[in-house]
Amino acid sequence: MPKPPYSFSSATALAQALGSIDESTQGVVLPIHVATTYIRGADNSYPNGNVYSRADNPSYKPVEALLCQLENGADALLFGSGMAAATAVFQALQPGDHVLAPKVMYWALRNWLLGFASDWGLQIELVDMTDLGAVQLALQPGKTKLIWIETPGNPTWTITDIAAMAKLAHSIGARLAVDSTCATPLLTQPLSLGADVVMHSATKYLNGHSDVIAGALISARMDDYWQRVINVRKGGGAVPSPHDAHQLLRGMRTMHLRVREACHNAQFIAEQLQHHDDIIEVMYPGLPSFAGYAIAAKQMSGGFGGMLSIRVAGGEAAAIAVAAQTKLWKRATSLGGVESLIEHRASVEGPASPCPADMLRLSAGIEDANELLADLQQALAFARTHVRK
Ligand SMILES: *Cc1c(COP(=O)(O)O)cnc(C)c1O
Repeated sequence: MPKPPYSFSSATALAQALGSIDESTQGVVLPIHVATTYIRGADNSYPNGNVYSRADNPSYKPVEALLCQLENGADALLFGSGMAAATAVFQALQPGDHVLAPKVMYWALRNWLLGFASDWGLQIELVDMTDLGAVQLALQPGKTKLIWIETPGNPTWTITDIAAMAKLAHSIGARLAVDSTCATPLLTQPLSLGADVVMHSATKYLNGHSDVIAGALISARMDDYWQRVINVRKGGGAVPSPHDAHQLLRGMRTMHLRVREACHNAQFIAEQLQHHDDIIEVMYPGLPSFAGYAIAAKQMSGGFGGMLSIRVAGGEAAAIAVAAQTKLWKRATSLGGVESLIEHRASVEGPASPCPADMLRLSAGIEDANELLADLQQALAFARTHVRK
């Protein structure tokens, strides 16, 4: 994908969707390309390269170009979900390949790796990615082909040192792929820190309005491995609808404003709650007391993200009561939307989950910070008087 001949700041690139307009109508918004099939030219070729929409669609191109610009990549691909994007990274490997993945990661991908990917022949090893020595020991030169990391890591927000992981991976000729969903393309650019592939659940901050399921991969270079990723998408038809791609681009045009507000709100709430009597621990990369703070401060800029978790005094019952008692915070799964969400993760993730039973995951939206805080405070007070006794 050719880079534009000019260099936009991310705010300008996003607001103007790279300055694209509809050449055929001079519309300031691009059309949705709904055709599933395209006519051949007189010489039997496809004049615009468009063939059949299971493989590719012109409505993806502006989104992919924008992601390339934001992530400093050579090529990008949209997928029908974040999981479709993530699993393509593993399906482009060979059975027998050894893969390192984190103990703290998006739960559905961990389950897929330990289930489907292992049955299919990948050798999956889960390691503590905050322990560089442990990662080095786990590497098998010649066999390890991929290190997969997620930072901040859902749902306890552990921070992984991207540059250090890239060095370790490259020392044995392996690749580094980063699930950067919660860092967004605005707060961290993993490819610039040495990673080979970046993945986003576009369902989250990229779209930002809880109304599109989509995913994306961005590659540092065009090579044989990336061609296999392209073939995974094409072969399985793991593509979003053109309508969703169009709506995603619309959502992305305000991402810088939404992410800025979500970071402000999360930072404010984390600071206000960290010494609260009803809270055992606030997990947020932007608190200097948090284990990953120093690395987060080094590799993130513009904020520490909109995600935090809290451990509620009084155990699981008190935590669930807080989630049930909030009014502004909507009790639902997912993250990265304009509305704030709260969820008891242990009930979702099941017994293999690394998250404590008294933990709630919070996705800060863009509402008024004081109103969000007051809502949590009244819910905590309810749990104190009605559940803990
Ligand atoms: C949601 C999420 C995914 C999966 O994305 P979907 O779009 O739901 O398939 C992967 N990684 C992280 C960190 C996520 O939050």
